Amino acid sequence: MSKVWFVGAGPGDPDLITVKGRDLIARADAILFAGSLVSEAATRWARDDCVIADSKGMTLEEIVAWLIEQAEADKTVIRLQTGDPGLYGALIEMVQPLDAAGIDIGVVPGVSSAMASAAAGVESLTLPEVTQTVILTRIEGRTPMPEGESIEELAVHHCTLCLFLSISLLKKVQQALLDAGWSPEAPVLVVHKASWPGEEKIIRGTISDIRDKCKQEKINSQAMIIASPTLGARQWPELKRSKLYDASFSHRFRKGVKAAP
Ligand code: SAH
Repeated sequence: MSKVWFVGAGPGDPDLITVKGRDLIARADAILFAGSLVSEAATRWARDDCVIADSKGMTLEEIVAWLIEQAEADKTVIRLQTGDPGLYGALIEMVQPLDAAGIDIGVVPGVSSAMASAAAGVESLTLPEVTQTVILTRIEGRTPMPEGESIEELAVHHCTLCLFLSISLLKKVQQALLDAGWSPEAPVLVVHKASWPGEEKIIRGTISDIRDKCKQEKINSQAMIIASPTLGARQWPELKRSKLYDASFSHRFRKGVKAAP
């Protein structure tokens, strides 16, 4: 039976695809990749006779029609998506018509650009007693935000915010964070093309100066904005340590020892 696989290609570095994703590519009969972000290098493991196409100029209907056409008897078809297919990837819009056509579906998760951006900056998105929460969101653009999900409302938690699809609206992001009570000096990290070999750019700034810094570097697309009270912790002189590795903390795999009085 044919199957269409939605495979997360990862954030850009072809080596960041999962082993399962790579193995599927190696046996795929057809691959449709999202040209604007997924590097063609991700198709480097495809068979010579694999049909490979770029969806850059296609509408959703054309994408679905291509996938259905390729998914003839016993074919393995891949829709290769940037990062993780379940984040801003129009996954369900594609899955529904394939379901209606009776085609079997599978999803292989991918390394999201949010994770790759944190890794690029050697940052932890959570820290004990600083924040234990990460919000993956975006600023309102042409896609409206559901009620209660404006950045102002989400930012009142003062947790980590990873903002997709928002770099061209950095001014609105700045204002939203300030309106939510963040200090103008609060750190912000912007990573452009996280993990792309030779193309990654890391910009560190504060809410007040990050826009100018991004302008200077001409960054206005393909960038992740991370605002978080954890940023820069690598340089902090004192850290609250994770309980998991604390000598006095018992858990399933280790018995804690009482600290000497
Ligand atoms: N599914 C993807 C997100 C797709 S939406 C994921 O999980 O990463 C596209 C947005 O993702 C871009 O506007 C940008 O904000 C972000 N993005 C994708 N790849 C990126 C990369 N390599 N570096 C920084 N941001 C990236």
